[in-house]
Order: sequence, then C-alpha cells, then structure tokens
Amino acid sequence: MKSDFSDLSYILNTLGEERENYFNAVSPPIIQTSNFSFKSVSDMRDKIEHEIDYPYYTRGNNPTVEILRKKIAALEGAEDALVFGSGVAAISAAVMSQLKSGDHAVCVSNPYGWTERLFKEYLTKYGVTADFVSGVDPSDFDKAAKENTKVFYLESPNSVNFQLQDIAAVSEIAKRRNCKLIIDNSCASPLNQSPISMGADIVVHSATKYLNGHSDVLAGVLCSTRKVIEDVFQNEFMNLGGIISPNDAWLMIRGLRTLELRMDRLATSTMQIVEFLEQHPKIDKVLYPFSKNNPQYDLALRQMKKGSGQFSILLNVNSYAQIETFCDSLNRFLLACSWGGHESLVYPLIVSPSIIKDNNPSRPWNLVRFYIGLENPEVLIEDLENALNKI
Ligand SMILES: *Cc1c(COP(=O)(O)O)cnc(C)c1O
Repeated sequence: MKSDFSDLSYILNTLGEERENYFNAVSPPIIQTSNFSFKSVSDMRDKIEHEIDYPYYTRGNNPTVEILRKKIAALEGAEDALVFGSGVAAISAAVMSQLKSGDHAVCVSNPYGWTERLFKEYLTKYGVTADFVSGVDPSDFDKAAKENTKVFYLESPNSVNFQLQDIAAVSEIAKRRNCKLIIDNSCASPLNQSPISMGADIVVHSATKYLNGHSDVLAGVLCSTRKVIEDVFQNEFMNLGGIISPNDAWLMIRGLRTLELRMDRLATSTMQIVEFLEQHPKIDKVLYPFSKNNPQYDLALRQMKKGSGQFSILLNVNSYAQIETFCDSLNRFLLACSWGGHESLVYPLIVSPSIIKDNNPSRPWNLVRFYIGLENPEVLIEDLENALNKI
C-alpha cells in the first residue's frame, strides 16, 4: 500500500473529503446555501478576512466547491486552484489578472474562439494589445515579444488542428523576458500533461470537457501558486463573480471519480480509430498528436503521457456536399460541438460560415473533428467505414 497519499487514486477518491464532518457520508453533501452564519462578531470578522479559505458567502468559498478545488490543484501539481462557472470564465480571469492597460500579450494562433476574441476584441478596449504567432517554433514568442509584453498564452494541443507548442522551451523564454506563461490544458487533461512541471505559471481548463466528463456541466478551473491564486481571488474571481454552483461542483466531483478510467479507455480507442482512418483512401490526413505521422510526434512523446480522445481528419473530397453526406451518414456519432463526455461526436468545420469566408490555412474547409467517447471502438469503426463508403 502506498503511504505518501499523493497518488491519483487518493486525489480522485479521498482528497479534500472530510467525511467525519458530515455523518461519514461516502458522497459529499451539496452545501446549497448562499451565506453562512456565525456565533459571534469576532468569529465573523475573522472569517471575512480569510474568505478565500473559509465559508462566509458562496461567491467566495463554499465547502462543496472547496473539495473540488483541492482535487483540481493536486491533479495539476499546483499549490492552489479556483473553480469557475465555465472554461471561458477561468481563461478570462487568468488573462485579465496578468495584464493592465498598456501591456501586450503574445498568443498562439487559432486558440479557442472566445480566447482569440478576448485578446483581439475585448481587451483592446482596456488598452491591451496582442499578437498571434504559429508557435511551432518556440522562438516565435521571443520574436513577437516587446518591451511591454507581460503574457505568453499557449494552447497545446490545439483543440482543432492539434498543433503543439514546446512548453518547456517557451517557458524559458517567458522567464528570461519576465512574462507570465498561461496555458489552456483542456485538450490533454491534467493526467496526460503537467504544464506546471515544465515551467507554466498558470494552467486553465475548460472543465466542461474531460474533468467533468459527462456533458452535463459547464465549468472552468485555474491553477497556480498560492500567491497568484490569492491575487486572482481578490480581483477577477470576486469582482467578476464567475463561480460554479455547489450543485455543479458536486456533479464534477462525481465526474472526477472515473477520470483515470475514462482517459485510459479514450486513449486506446482513439489510437485504434486513428490507425484505421490513416489507411483509408478517402482521408488525406489525420491530425492527432500521437500519430506516428505527426511531424511533432517526438514533442508529443516528450511532453505528454498519452493521447486524448479528439482528432481531426482532412477529407479527400472536392465539395461541401460530400462532407455533409459523410457527417449525416454517421449513426454512432452525435453531430455536436464540445467534447470530453461519454458520447462520440463529430464536428465539421463547414458548420461555421466564417470558415469559408476567412479561408484560414490552419482551418481548412475539409476538416472534420471527432471526439471518441466511451463506446466500443469496433462499433465506431464500422460506422465510419459505412459513412466513408457513401462519399
Ligand atoms: C471548450 C473549450 C474552452 C471553453 O470552455 P467553456 O467551458 O465552454 O467555457 C476553452 N478552451 C478549449 C480548448 C475548449 O475546448
């Protein structure tokens, strides 16, 4: 038996759960309350000073959310974490916490759509500017950095084209230039990639995806040092107030119980499906970090433990109609955005009118993204084969 109690099983099953405080219930209670009462004025005064750690008002601290916070921090190897009501709330809080008027950021190109909009549109009204770089070569960040650059923002792997950035190399440049390195780690999950150990300052996730894992909750997390978390808590967290509800936090704790199982299953099924698709004549290319054909395969091996459940294909077709026929012919994949739940999904880029208008080479029109859920991979392969035969 392990004695250090820092292993994954301990985190997912026990950490943060003080069962003796709630009748030794195995499943934690949902503390569905907005406020907490006190026996004395001095006790109340003491708690309001330490709202980050003690229940006073649920916007600050709630015991159900607190359990989740401890587990998330441990999963990312961070000193502390905050949980938000969506991934975008966590991303915005992280970015805004590190920038002020007159500052500049360098962001990897084609990040999650609302992240891109945050830098390109929203923050400009506060006098913050940003440049976007491919990031395949870490020196892209060095070249784009200026005197006033304060943040490097990564998304590795990217959740549409699955490009990677060398986290350790970019982190070295960030440290030399006194910039904070923020990374969206949603795509890999904390089990498959640990950016803090490679020098990242802040790790954010859309917990809507793998961490919750059941397509029934929106949530986000932000992990960092205690110092950064105290600062974010006092500002973006309390001021913007993008919190998760106790009920959703409880669902996330339940979702986490099976995180390891789900990630294991996904990695195996996805690899099997990627290998099937790579030899199919109707497919030009499969974009997946752990494909041996990926030019960044060595980097994937170096900085990630294994693959996740999403990949994209470039279909060998010459019309939108063929893509529509292919997607509409799939019976075992739901046509939907998002990923990370129990169910397999398909998402063709042609659903977005801007794809056709923008003609962005890293968002090709014949790209179809897949997410492999927990179903039997043989069944999914058969379904893919049938749909490919229709085009
Ligand atoms: C979904 C997603 C987000 C946004 O998260 P929400 O929980 O939907 O707010 C951010 N980054 C990536 C990579 C995502 O896939």
